[in-house]
Amino acid sequence: MATIVKSYEPTFWDRLYLPALAKGLAVTLKHFFRKKITIQYPDEKYVPPDGYRGLHRLNKYPDGKIRCVACELCSAACPADCIHIIPGPSPWEDGKERFPVRFDIDLLRCIFCGFCEMACPEEAIELTEIYDFSNYTRDDLLIDKEGLLGVYELTKDTNYYSRPNAGQDSEALTSDKF
Ligand code: SF4
Ligand code: SF4
Repeated sequence: MATIVKSYEPTFWDRLYLPALAKGLAVTLKHFFRKKITIQYPDEKYVPPDGYRGLHRLNKYPDGKIRCVACELCSAACPADCIHIIPGPSPWEDGKERFPVRFDIDLLRCIFCGFCEMACPEEAIELTEIYDFSNYTRDDLLIDKEGLLGVYELTKDTNYYSRPNAGQDSEALTSDKF
């Protein structure tokens, strides 16, 4: 049996529109006196919360050695196929046999899902809070091992955006600065 759905019949007050107008203005008024969350970007920077998935970094041990052992698990887990690693023998005598000779990430393909970070058995790759790393060419959005280690230096001790000159060097993050 067919179900009959009654169409909406506006009441007398609905037809006046004034109650709806007053209700809308009340909402506007309520928000008018609330604390503003708009910020004057880029002069002011939003500080993302812990766990934000932004620009990657390659972590080091306190003695300066790179944690990555070039196992390529991150590359295998990456759904965007944007991590490219060339492994080589480790230059250090610490029991780890492999080391990334090259470690490149194509940031234009990356979807910042964090799967690489989850797959890494060495806690070597990590996504940081850095979100404003736009650049002018595609080549500048390919970050290499030196760039990833440079991001580690910038973010290891403090939130990138909590620094006094926050964001001043963000364009250089993915260029050949490092
Ligand atoms: S965040 Fe996701 S898409 Fe980006 S490199 Fe890691 S696994 Fe690949
Ligand atoms: S970052 Fe981690 S998962 Fe990727 S190659 Fe290095 S050790 Fe393996």
